[in-house]
Amino acid sequence: MAIKQYAVIGLGRFGTSIARRLYEAGQEVLGIDINEESVEDAEPYVTHGAIADSTEEKALTALGIKNFDCVIVAIGDDLQASILTVMLLKNLGIKKVIAKAMSKRHGQVLEAIGTNWIIYPERDMGERVANQLLSPNVLDY
Ligand code: ATP
Repeated sequence: MAIKQYAVIGLGRFGTSIARRLYEAGQEVLGIDINEESVEDAEPYVTHGAIADSTEEKALTALGIKNFDCVIVAIGDDLQASILTVMLLKNLGIKKVIAKAMSKRHGQVLEAIGTNWIIYPERDMGERVANQLLSPNVLDY
C-alpha cells in the first residue's frame, strides 16, 4: 500500500481512533488539536502531534497542511470551528476533506461547502451493526 499523508484535526475519541488505525497501518499521520492534553494523549498514535487552532489559516499553513493528501476534521461539538476549518481546507486546495457531522443540519452545511465525505458517527455505526446482524455470515444473536 502506498504511504499517504493524513492530518487529523480534533483528537477526541473519534479523531484519535482514526489517527491510530492509520498510523498502525504505516501511514503518515499529523494529529492536531487546540488542547495540549489531547495532543499529548494522542502522541503515541501519530507520527507528529501539533497544538494549533484549526480555524486560523496561518496555523494550518505553518503546519504545511497543503501537502496533505487527506484531512479529517473530527471536531463535533463546536459547529463554528468545524465549518470554518473545512472552509479553510477547501480554500487551501485540499482535495479530500472528511468531516464528522453531529446533526443533519451540520451535515448539510458541510456538504454545501464542499466536504468530500461526511460521517455521522452514531448513524453510520448503527447502520453498520444492523448490516452485520443481517449478514448471512454472522453468528445468530
Ligand atoms: P469525541 O466524541 O471524538 O471524543 P469530544 O467529545 O472530545 O469528541 P468534540 O467537540 O467532538 O469533542 O471535539 C473533538 C476535539 O476537537 C477536542 O479534542 C477539541 O479540543 C478539538 N477542537 C475543537 N476545536 C478545535 C479547533 N478550533 N482547533 C483544533 N482542535 C479543536
